[in-house]
Amino acid sequence: MDALSLPRPAWMTEDLVLLEDQARRFLAAELAPHIETWHEAGIMDRSAWRKLGEAGLLCAGIPEEYGGAGGSFAHETVINREYALAGLDSIGAPLHSGIVAPYILHHGTEEQKRRWLPKLATGELVGAIAMSEPGAGSDLQGVRASAKKSGNGYVLNGTKTFITNGQHADLIIVVARTDPEAGHKGISLMVVESADCPGFRRGRKLKKLGMDWADTSELFFEDVKLPAENLLGKEEGQGFIQLMTDLPQERLLVATAAIGMIERALALTIDYVKERKAFGKAIIEFQNTQFVLAECKTEATIARVFHDHCVERHILGELDTTTASMAKYRLTDLQNSIVDRCLQLFGGYGYMDEYPISRMYRDARVQRIYAGTNEIMKLLIARSL
Ligand SMILES: Cc1cc2nc3c(=O)[nH]c(=O)nc-3n(C[C@H](O)[C@H](O)[C@H](O)COP(=O)(O)OP(=O)(O)OC[C@H]3O[C@@H](n4cnc5c(N)ncnc54)[C@H](O)[C@@H]3O)c2cc1C
Repeated sequence: MDALSLPRPAWMTEDLVLLEDQARRFLAAELAPHIETWHEAGIMDRSAWRKLGEAGLLCAGIPEEYGGAGGSFAHETVINREYALAGLDSIGAPLHSGIVAPYILHHGTEEQKRRWLPKLATGELVGAIAMSEPGAGSDLQGVRASAKKSGNGYVLNGTKTFITNGQHADLIIVVARTDPEAGHKGISLMVVESADCPGFRRGRKLKKLGMDWADTSELFFEDVKLPAENLLGKEEGQGFIQLMTDLPQERLLVATAAIGMIERALALTIDYVKERKAFGKAIIEFQNTQFVLAECKTEATIARVFHDHCVERHILGELDTTTASMAKYRLTDLQNSIVDRCLQLFGGYGYMDEYPISRMYRDARVQRIYAGTNEIMKLLIARSL
């Protein structure tokens, strides 16, 4: 599915080309055929996580010594684009591999890395990150969940909402206050293992506008006892800095999902307008169709080049928050706008649930909201002016 006439980016090495092909074949054979069932059930099968682990598609950027595939962020990018091209928009694997595992890799102690990363790589553990609360989303300093020192460990209390992978998660990184007086310096990341965890409860799988089979959920923690070793890293109060350090990567993951969906939307639409006829000719023969798609393809090409530039800079460790925020905001806005224009070219069929473009229209909307809303992205960009 290559709707854009672009050469491969320079960072796309031979092994990444092979990975792209392997991921494409695997997703088409093993996951995509289940989308309808998951769509009806409102949740993906837990077994799919194990399959992804067996195929080496989880934690591709984590070093081999911790059970990962030993690749870089480029490997994650290639896999994530394939999820989008395959129509697996609801999948929580990019967050599992590209956010949760890196938090442990970058900030965990050696013992924590050895304990959790290999199980995340096999899919034995499913990861989640619980920042948002009913009263705190964009403003993370308003987090109320607390982890109070008790004996050798902590007691965790709080409510989290909108948590991706909420029903399946076995390992949840919870943003909590270890010091209520210390502002952002009082925030720490606590790791909750949900098996045999008295006081931990999963709430509803939330009904949403789109991403129907993503198990976005509420999570409740009531006097959950955690050993001291479940504080991520060695020191309390590092949570905010840990979150900030990894945010450019999180934003780029969202941008990759956006560009993948844009490419898929264009490819599906170009096929459709060549087949569908009105007034005795194919829809693509109308100049309006050609102009709309010419505009979409141009904007998508520019976006893809910028995306690839950001990936390259991130691989080199040079991607700054401002540029990552630009990628997240601009590409997700463009994703919504291109999917909308493509849907229009499907006419009434574009509004029907069985047509992928209608689901893409619904799935795309959240991309402008999560991982920092696009308004927050603009605030961050404005700081660089
Ligand atoms: C499907 C889905 C999955 C999610 N997955 C996760 C997850 O896995 N983990 C997790 O922790 N969270 C997750 N979230 C939560 C998501 O990150 C938050 O919804 C998001 O950060 C916005 O927070 P909020 O909903 O509280 O909105 P609010 O912060 O209340 O914002 C409301 C509006 O005000 C605007 N606004 C806020 N502050 C400012 C400002 N300073 N200047 C200008 N405008 C502003 C916002 O842009 C927005 O338009 C998910 C959300 C959804 C919908």
